[in-house]
Amino acid sequence: MFVDFFNELLNGRLIGLKCLDCGTVTCPPKSTCDNCRGRNLERVELSGYGRVVSYTVTYVAPMGYEKEVPYVVALVELDEGPWIVGRLDVDVEKAERENLIGRRVRVYGKEFQGEMFYPMEKRVVPMFEMV
Ligand SMILES: [Zn+2]
Repeated sequence: MFVDFFNELLNGRLIGLKCLDCGTVTCPPKSTCDNCRGRNLERVELSGYGRVVSYTVTYVAPMGYEKEVPYVVALVELDEGPWIVGRLDVDVEKAERENLIGRRVRVYGKEFQGEMFYPMEKRVVPMFEMV
């Protein structure tokens, strides 16, 4: 399910799970519902739209991500309810100069080449562009 999530993200589709018991949407997909812990879940495609809840500029990266700094990490509330973490596709100076909290964004997937831990691997990161 998780591999499917990232492959779909690369193709511009955001996948979540809808709980058939309580209606809550969970994203990224997990084995249980975020609200009731139920396992009666169905795969749904989300709109990919949401709003910025919070963000921060990263200058000192965790080990293995040093070549990617500076970058902006954002917490986004999707229109369907779940909150997901990704990177904000915005100029770092703009992120520091303006208050981007509440701004509308749309998610897409971007591939990054692995470095120190899995140098041959590519990983997909949720990116948010301003709309
Ligand atoms: Zn539920």
